[in-house]
Amino acid sequence: MRFLVDAMLEKLAEWLRILGYDTVSASDLSILDDDYLLDIAEYEDRILLTKDRELYERARKEGVSTLLVEGNDVEEQLAFLVRKGTIELKDAPSLERCPRCNGILRKANRSEVKGQVPMGVYMSREEFWICTSCGQVYWKGSHWTRIKEFVERIREKLDKG
Ligand SMILES: [Zn+2]
Repeated sequence: MRFLVDAMLEKLAEWLRILGYDTVSASDLSILDDDYLLDIAEYEDRILLTKDRELYERARKEGVSTLLVEGNDVEEQLAFLVRKGTIELKDAPSLERCPRCNGILRKANRSEVKGQVPMGVYMSREEFWICTSCGQVYWKGSHWTRIKEFVERIREKLDKG
């Protein structure tokens, strides 16, 4: 399951990556043109996620897999995708994809991240991940806890129906 999101769904792209989904965003690719956007979706076999009804209709007409995303914030949007059966709420963060650039993450040795993370983090953590594309380093910190809480909130929302 691979996605292409339109420029209005930038935040959603980040969260799909946190959940481990291969997600490209129109603004990352500097795609301003709908024709090109549809071509990329088709070529890379990605599901186009959009909030633009016109674009959605066009995609359908041209046989590009697409979903008109409902929800005004990323929490509602993710819940929508789960209800649709498009994604699953896995244990987040999945640590497969870089939230920033969609690059693949790999485990890093402490020595590799020396000087690249705050010293306190370096001293107190054992596990690090690094993006093979942009070089961003990740570790279990407060952001980590917030991600878990966020996903938990969506789960509760879905349980309530
Ligand atoms: Zn990256």
